[in-house]
Amino acid sequence: MPHDSVFDVNGALIIGAGLAGLFTALKMAPHPVTVISPMALGEGASSAWAQGGVAAALRDDDSPAAHANDTIAAGAGTVDPAVALSVAEEAARQIEDLVALGTPFDRDADGRFVQSREAAHSAHRVARVKGDRAGFAIMQALIAAVRATPSIRIIEGIEADDLALADGRVAGVFARQASDPWSAPILFQSTQVVLATGGVGGLYRVTSNPSRVRGQGLGMAARAGAVIADPEFVQFHPTGIAVDRDPAPLASEALRGEGATLIDETGTRFMVAIHGQAELAPRDIVARAIHYHIAAGHQVFLDTREAIGASFAEHFPTIAGYCAEAGIDPVTQPIPVAPIQHYHMGGVRTDAVGRTSLPGLWAVGEVACTGLHGANRLASNSLLEALVFGARIATQIVGEVARFAQPIGTLPTPAPEIDILPEAAHAELRQIMTADVGVERDATGLTRALRSIARIERESQGTSRAFLNMLSVATLITAAALQRVESRGGHARADYPATDRAQAHQTLITLDQALAIRAAAEETAQ
Ligand SMILES: Cc1cc2nc3c(=O)[nH]c(=O)nc-3n(C[C@H](O)[C@H](O)[C@H](O)COP(=O)(O)OP(=O)(O)OC[C@H]3O[C@@H](n4cnc5c(N)ncnc54)[C@H](O)[C@@H]3O)c2cc1C
Repeated sequence: MPHDSVFDVNGALIIGAGLAGLFTALKMAPHPVTVISPMALGEGASSAWAQGGVAAALRDDDSPAAHANDTIAAGAGTVDPAVALSVAEEAARQIEDLVALGTPFDRDADGRFVQSREAAHSAHRVARVKGDRAGFAIMQALIAAVRATPSIRIIEGIEADDLALADGRVAGVFARQASDPWSAPILFQSTQVVLATGGVGGLYRVTSNPSRVRGQGLGMAARAGAVIADPEFVQFHPTGIAVDRDPAPLASEALRGEGATLIDETGTRFMVAIHGQAELAPRDIVARAIHYHIAAGHQVFLDTREAIGASFAEHFPTIAGYCAEAGIDPVTQPIPVAPIQHYHMGGVRTDAVGRTSLPGLWAVGEVACTGLHGANRLASNSLLEALVFGARIATQIVGEVARFAQPIGTLPTPAPEIDILPEAAHAELRQIMTADVGVERDATGLTRALRSIARIERESQGTSRAFLNMLSVATLITAAALQRVESRGGHARADYPATDRAQAHQTLITLDQALAIRAAAEETAQ
């Protein structure tokens, strides 16, 4: 089936319109760039939902070196220290950029930034807006700036599902109307494609991510042969508000930073016995502790009554809204919480300037794996990473502007598939990922998951490239989790609970390698 339309993009093409995509586009101005977004700008992006803010050492009692050290410690032995230091050093400049774009960060009476303290940070380091409105406010500022920048063309309502390759390099993407899965593919041609499609939340049964954030960019890159790094490292947020909603609302870490405690139905603060930092222990430790406590038959609550009390709605208006919708009054009642999928540390492997292993392809934001997060992301480092790497990618692409003229060879046509996400198979995949590739894993569950993913892939053949992207990412996460026979950061193996020094390195894996692990898992089960 021929693609219906071909757009020859003038300049670079950015896939995704969260903070990573929009900031990269702004940094490229006045060079031309096209951004495609499945929804209206500001909708469908995790960035707009970010509550805490942006980590940056801005106070006299803090420093980029201390920020880098905390990043390295949280990352559990696999953070690239050079990346951590350079990102921390550039943080203040990115905050200045956001201020220049109109972000109304919270300030004290003397004009200094008011910064929150979040888990595993050794200082008050998170620049915030109106308590918990950072993501929304930053996105509003970026959207206004993007709309006012003539060199940026925004195409809304379009979703990419395949990379176009020509002459051994990425030459564009195939996309469709996001609202019409039956629509014919459109080919957007560009020699510089930036993936900014966010994380993998939609692969899991309950996630904090918007529903179209479901591993599409990572899947497309993997299917095109890109090297993927650390896919097994998935972060589960300890305190999803447990009110049976999907996506689930989040009770931000900043609440615990303000002194909120985790209690069970008996009122016991169970984290005190588990970690010296109690509720402010690294995210993976808190998430696992809650997971085990719930598995042991307890209910878990975040208690803000004493630490925050009557000022809750004033300081945390977004979370107050979520609680009100669920009929919970955090001034008088503890908030029921449970761990939910939240962030993907792994992604398309990039170098220090955002370049992937495929010529012509860049990755920025949550879809990328730059080496900053290692096995566990430090809270509020992801918006920062998107800003720093967005700026770096823009500089690189603009520097390569002469090569934009390079002719594109003969482009392939996409396979004659419709784009229906098979609903039952999709729900089954999410269930499998949560049950067997979730907070805690073991060889039996991971092998079972690989077999099920292979079966679902066979049964759903030809339905949807978007679903194939998801199955490819599920295969990568599960295969890498099976291969890593230790526990580290966000990857907890019940059968290998110890951390093994010999495995203190990044996982580098291609989809072909993951498929071979999957095939071997199927054989062992015969
Ligand atoms: C509730 C919540 C709170 C958070 N709080 C914080 C915080 O306080 N601080 C922090 O640093 N991080 C926080 N995070 C994490 C952070 O928000 C994300 O990691 C970050 O926003 C990712 O930015 P991004 O631009 O890469 O992706 P996103 O903002 O998710 O944007 C992805 C974009 O890609 C689009 N897209 C997806 N698939 C396709 C496709 N196939 N074709 C075209 N476009 C596509 C999406 O529609 C969207 O526009 C939070 C995350 C959540 C969910």
